[in-house]
Formats: sequence, structure tokens, C-alpha cells
Amino acid sequence: MSCREYIGHQEPCHHSVIGQDVNKAAEQVKVLLGLRHLMGWENICMQDQGAAEQASRAEGTTETFDLVVVGAGVAGLNALYAATDYLPKGARVLLIDQKQGPGGMWNTAYDFVRLHQPHPMFTVGDVKWDWTKPRDYLAKRDEVRAHLTSALGPVSDSVELETAFEQTVVEAEEVQTDYGYKAKVVFRPNAADSPTRTVLANVAIHAQG
Ligand SMILES: Cc1cc2nc3c(=O)[nH]c(=O)nc-3n(C[C@H](O)[C@H](O)[C@H](O)COP(=O)(O)OP(=O)(O)OC[C@H]3O[C@@H](n4cnc5c(N)ncnc54)[C@H](O)[C@@H]3O)c2cc1C
Repeated sequence: MSCREYIGHQEPCHHSVIGQDVNKAAEQVKVLLGLRHLMGWENICMQDQGAAEQASRAEGTTETFDLVVVGAGVAGLNALYAATDYLPKGARVLLIDQKQGPGGMWNTAYDFVRLHQPHPMFTVGDVKWDWTKPRDYLAKRDEVRAHLTSALGPVSDSVELETAFEQTVVEAEEVQTDYGYKAKVVFRPNAADSPTRTVLANVAIHAQG
């Protein structure tokens, strides 16, 4: 089965096809963590390393990323972490979030809230908590946020990660280019009248909570 057939498109894709596995990995992340809103693999074709730059040139001034993740909460971070297993080293990845940093809702929760479950189980991929507190310790808001932020370290070790915090995605759609289907993502600084930036992605993940 080609990746295009897998996501219901008419035309077969001739790029290297690992999208099905990526999708399965993301599904597993969703099931394992009980997350509700990991969705929208807009385009699950992965291309060879360098293809992003090639497509960028084809598109003129529009930058192309191998992967764009919208939402840096625990769902987006897990999807990002899982995807790096499938992306070539140095792949270009863009992580966009309205908040000032990673952690999603843990950025804006009240400061007295704590995890409901033992902290080691609430993580990104297999990233360990950087302490030796008892397993049943219920982590505080800022501790959760710090831990989720730390997960970007291992991600940055394997891909070229650009982050765009305090930015709002205002449009995301699939477009056809000379280099195959891409996800077009338009975002801008949170201030409503800021100019927008448009990028293309081979894969886009929406994990917006
Ligand atoms: C007190 C408390 C304790 C909890 N304890 C546990 C627990 O023990 N175990 C457990 O599994 N769960 C627990 N949860 C629930 C868990 O924390 C949440 O389900 C989880 O954090 C949600 O993650 P998410 O990534 O889906 O969404 P979010 O954390 O909401 O992240 C979504 C992100 O998408 C961004 N976004 C949305 N729209 C846009 C846009 N247009 N452009 C750019 N960015 C956008 C948002 O800014 C946000 O940062 C708890 C929740 C609370 C409140």
C-alpha cells in the first residue's frame, strides 16, 4: 500500500514510505497516554533527507520542513519524540505553540495543581525525570512544565529543531506542489495584527489540546 492510499488519496506516492509506521507510533502514543486530541497527519509521506530544501527552492521563498508540529503540550511533544525515530538525522522540524514555552496547559494551570498519577508515567517517550523523588510523588505544575521542556533536549540531538513559541497557527491545509502533497501552515505572533509566516511541511501534526 502506498502512503497516499493509506490516507485516502487517489494518487500513489513514490517517496520512501514510512508514514504508516509513524502513524502507528503516534497512535500508540495516544493510546498509552490516554490523550484525546492527537490528530491530523496531513501528509504522511516522508521524503529523503534534503528533499525539504529541494521543495523550498521549488516553492520560491516558502520554507519547507520535514515535520511541523502544532502544539507543544504532552501530546505534541510525544508525537514529535516518536517521529524523530523515523526522521533522518538533521531533518528540519518546526514546533509551533501559542504558549511561551513547551508544556501546553501546564503553562497556564493554577500554581497549586499537581499531577494525578505517579510522575514517572507522565513523560515524553522514555525521557526520565531528572530527580530521585519517590515514584508516587505527584509533581507540581512547574515541575511538570520543566520536565516536559527537558524533552526537547533529546529531540534537538537528532533533528534540526526550530521552535516558534507565542505564535498562533491561523491556517493549515494540504496543497499540491511539483514535489507532491505538502501541508501548508500559516502562523503569526499572537498579537492579532502581526504579519504571518507561511511554511510547507512534508508532515504536519496537530496536537492542539
Ligand atoms: C490538575 C491536573 C492534573 C492532571 N494529571 C494528569 C495525570 O496525572 N495524568 C495524565 O495523563 N493527565 C493528567 N492531566 C491531564 C493532562 O495534563 C492533559 O490531558 C494534557 O496535558 C493535555 O495535553 P495536550 O498536549 O493534549 O493539550 P495541551 O496541553 O492543551 O496542549 C495543546 C497546545 O496547543 C497549543 N495550541 C492550540 N491551538 C493552537 C494554535 N492555533 N496555534 C498554536 N498553538 C496552539 C496550545 O497553546 C497548547 O500549548 C491532568 C490535568 C490537570 C489539570
